[in-house]
Amino acid sequence: MVKNCRLCGSPHIRKKSSGVQQTSTYFTNNTYQLVACLNCHTWFKEPFATHEQISAHYNSLSADGIDWEKHEVLPHQKHIYDELSNLNSGILLDVGCWTGGLLADYTKLKNYQIYGLEPNAGAAKKAQSKGYHIIGKQADDIKHSTLLFDRIYLIDVIEHLINPVEVLNILISKLAQNGKLIVVTGNNKSWPFILFKTNYWYLKFPDHLAFYSNKSFTQIKGLTGLKIEVKYTKHYWHTNKRFIENVKSFIKFILSKCTQKTAFVHLGGITDHLFVVLSKS
Ligand SMILES: [Zn+2]
Repeated sequence: MVKNCRLCGSPHIRKKSSGVQQTSTYFTNNTYQLVACLNCHTWFKEPFATHEQISAHYNSLSADGIDWEKHEVLPHQKHIYDELSNLNSGILLDVGCWTGGLLADYTKLKNYQIYGLEPNAGAAKKAQSKGYHIIGKQADDIKHSTLLFDRIYLIDVIEHLINPVEVLNILISKLAQNGKLIVVTGNNKSWPFILFKTNYWYLKFPDHLAFYSNKSFTQIKGLTGLKIEVKYTKHYWHTNKRFIENVKSFIKFILSKCTQKTAFVHLGGITDHLFVVLSKS
């Protein structure tokens, strides 16, 4: 087992679950251990993916297969648009922008310049067709860029990162004076994570490598020196039938326990995400 926390480096880590089945075989083993850091309360999967594995995985995804835009405006997106309405103009960067669903509407407005980073070529092409300026695949690609951004968005991305602190530091160095870095990710201190752990839908994706808490971001604050504001948000889309769907998912999960099969609890409209704003002042 890994000896130190992958976020804070603390040796105080403990195994939460082992032999957990992944839902796909993108990575080396089809089972993983879930490990928790007692210092910063971050969870991570072991073995961790390598850069090669993760990039092969992103290249294999079809940009037609996962379409976030068919859903309604998600709660965290609403926060983002509300916050942007105070800005009026700006240079924005969407990291891991996929097909550009988040900021496509802003590309049509003259007072905004929208940039994106996206490793999947097909998705990047789609984002480009919506007016995104694609400037690389990952944070590393803008290390030497002279661009500074008023807002940088890391939406459902940090849980995919092998080297989160390194990426955050690159992005922070690209913030304009009053710039903000906004991070949205699952909250491992929310009740569905605590109750269902590796059976919660958020953990089923092989490319979700780490799971954060409010305390993880206190640690990040120490590492980056930024001011941090943490709020809680719902993320997963909600339908009119969400209560029924949630109950159905829960029953399916209970039944799977009786038959020893792996099942995941998919809950909609639940406050299970963190919305974190990092700023220089
Ligand atoms: Zn830690």
